[in-house]
Order: sequence, then structure tokens, then C-alpha cells
Amino acid sequence: MATNGPLGRKLRMGIVGGGQGSFIGRVHVTAAVLDNRAALVAGALSSDPARAKASAADYDIDPGRAYGSFQEMFDTERKLPADRRIDFVSIATPNHMHFPVAKAALEAGFHVVCDKPLTLTLREAGELAALAARSPVVFAVTHNYTGYPLVRQARQMILAGELGEIQAIRAEYIQGWLRTRLESEGQKQAAWRTDPAKSGAAGCFGDIGTHAYNLGRYMTGLLPDAISANLRTFEPGRSLDDYGHAVIRYENGALGTVTASQISHGRENDLRIQVDGTLGSLEWHQESPNQMVVRHNGKPHMIYTRDPNAPFMNDAGKAACRLPSGHPEAFFEAFANVYRAAFDDMATVATGGSVDKRDTVYPNIHDGVEGMYFIEQAVASSANDGAWLPLRHALARR
Ligand code: NAD
Repeated sequence: MATNGPLGRKLRMGIVGGGQGSFIGRVHVTAAVLDNRAALVAGALSSDPARAKASAADYDIDPGRAYGSFQEMFDTERKLPADRRIDFVSIATPNHMHFPVAKAALEAGFHVVCDKPLTLTLREAGELAALAARSPVVFAVTHNYTGYPLVRQARQMILAGELGEIQAIRAEYIQGWLRTRLESEGQKQAAWRTDPAKSGAAGCFGDIGTHAYNLGRYMTGLLPDAISANLRTFEPGRSLDDYGHAVIRYENGALGTVTASQISHGRENDLRIQVDGTLGSLEWHQESPNQMVVRHNGKPHMIYTRDPNAPFMNDAGKAACRLPSGHPEAFFEAFANVYRAAFDDMATVATGGSVDKRDTVYPNIHDGVEGMYFIEQAVASSANDGAWLPLRHALARR
């Protein structure tokens, strides 16, 4: 029996970004190969062609497929025989390069797994969505927190009505690493994240606020209606926000808050979400991702643990587990769950089937467009003293 999933072979991966000294590219590659359903065969790993080629050995990429630029990679790969060329490309560059790379990939007919935020501007996101809609390709966006087993568990519980009607969502993503101006000390991840030309209209709100917002949308399925935001730049000399909060009105009358900080001393990757429904509430924290607390008035608090064999786990939660309970699963595995669901759709497309592109298990281009709308409306609201602005985008995930 084939061990490589429904396709019976590994999908061939190309990556843009992930060169020496970078962060998330290595996570993409590790996550993509975790289930033995993909192999990295090509890459344009850096903006610097020499570094791109030098980085290829770190991934065992054949020197002949270590490209100096993403254009060269697509031009060459598209001409290779169908049984050799890459099937999909993962984009792990700073934000300003997502659009040109994703557009070129779509035009060359490759599936795309793009990191967040989708693009630099909402206009670019709309252009990509239009291109993707005309093509059979799969387009995933790595809002990777959606891949945690207990997040998937919470989503299924909420959609099944186990918490009753959802009335409040409090999501926050709190970090402290930009408390000082690391960007002026040559720290490259800080440098591009605080540069509007590379990061986009928002800093902290685009980098991590979008994750918190997406998590609330994914977990509850509530559609947003309007946003009021206050963003601040507390570090003198910095051009983009490093702290902010937003209030969100949802269409069903629920209220949400998103708080994002990169200037809170000692805070690491403190993403947490709390959801209140008429029948119960829940709380999940990504720094302790294998537990989730569910509460009902008058009853002891329940701690759900990630356990693929427990009767309290639902189908979505179980399906996202790899290890028996008690062995911690975390960032890589959750990231791999996003890939695994996208691979299922890639396999369907490769065997002539069609897939629903809007309501997918993995975050998709619609979530990406929503993320860009969230950023642009938050920035516009903040610039207008917290004015309420619309937040429902026509392309929103349903
Ligand atoms: P990084 O600065 O560590 O790495 C970026 C890499 O992209 C570098 O290797 C750089 O040389 C390369 N690059 C830049 N321009 C390129 C080009 N034209 N062609 C080829 N390679 C190019 O950045 P990072 O922290 O890894 O972030 C990368 C992206 O991932 C960003 O969009 C960021 O928002 C996102 N990110 C997502 C998560 C997550 O949890 N999903 C976490 C971190 C970063």
C-alpha cells in the first residue's frame, strides 16, 4: 500500500525563502515532510542569489535545482516533465515578496502555500484571489494555529452548538521581543517587520494581530460586521504599530476583542483565546497547547487534554493528533496539519477532482484576504480615532 497518501507518491515541493539565518522556511519544510507525503526538491532560498545557492545544501536540494531567484525557479520548473516538476511552492519570504511570488506561481500553475499576512496590500490580495479563482490550484495560507488538535476540537464543539450561541471572543497575541529597537541593531527579522515597505500598513497588528483575529474567525465561524481599533507605536523612532487593540462586532451581535503587543516585557508567544457562549465558555493558550479549559457555571472546570483515544475528543480533534496523550505536540505538528489538509486537496486536484476552495479545513486565500482587510480597516480606524468601519469582506470564508 502506498504510504504517501491518496496520491500514492510524494508531492514535490519548491520553497522561496528559508535561506541561512531565516526562521519560518525551515518550519515549512519540516511540517511539509512530517507525514511522508512531500519531498523538497527545489528552492530559491534567499534574496541574494549566492546565498540562495549556498543554502540549498542545508536542505539536501540538488545543486541543479537550487535557483538564484524565484523567477528562475518557475521558468525552469514549468518546463520540466510533469513527473519531475514541482507540484507546489511554499512562500516563506518577508511580506512584500508574497504577492510577486504567489502571482508567478499561480501563473505557472503550481499550488501555493503562502505565509501570512497574504500580501502587502488588500489590493494585491484581491488580485491573487481573482487569479486563484480562475485556476484549479490549491492555495493555503499558514495561519498555523488553526492546526492544533484542541483548536480543531474547539471549532467542532462550537459549530455543533455545544457552547450555545457565541456572544464574546477575546483573542490576544502578546510578545515582548520588540521592547527595544532591535531593528536598529541589525536584527534582520525585526528590520523588515518594522519597515512599512516590507511589512505593510501595520507592524504588530499585521504580524501577530492577524493570527489572533483569524483564530477567532476559524474557531467560531462567526462573520464579522465592523471594527474599531486603536494602534500605537510606543518605541520612539519606529514607524509601525508595536501595540494595539481592536473591538469587533460580529453579525450575530457578538463582541470580539483582538489585542496584540510586541512590547510587553517577558512575553514570548502568548497567543490565547477565550470564547463565551450562552451554554459554556472555553479557553485555549498556545504556550500550553495540549490543554483546553471548558467551563459551565455551577460545575467544576473541565480540562480537556489532547488525547486521540479519549471519548471526549471529537472527530476533528482526534484527526489532528499524531501522538498518544501526554507526549507534547506543538508548533511543528500543528503546522503539519495545515499542510496535510492542503495535500488532501492537492491530491484530489491531481486526480481530476475539484475542491471547495472557500470552506476548507486549512486556512485558504479567503482567510488571507480577510486578514488583509482586517489590517487595512484596523489601520484606517485607528487613524480616524477608532471610528467604526465595515469588516465583512465579500470574499470572506463562510
Ligand atoms: P526571515 O527574515 O527570517 O526570512 C525570510 C527569508 O526570505 C530569508 O531567507 C530571505 O533571504 C528570503 N527572501 C527575501 N526575499 C526573497 C526573494 N526575493 N527570493 C527568495 N527569498 C527571499 O523571515 P521570517 O521570520 O521567516 O518570516 C517570513 C514570513 O513568514 C513572513 O511573511 C512572516 O510574516 C511569516 N511568519 C509566519 C509565522 C507563522 O507562525 N505562521 C512565523 C514567523 C514568520
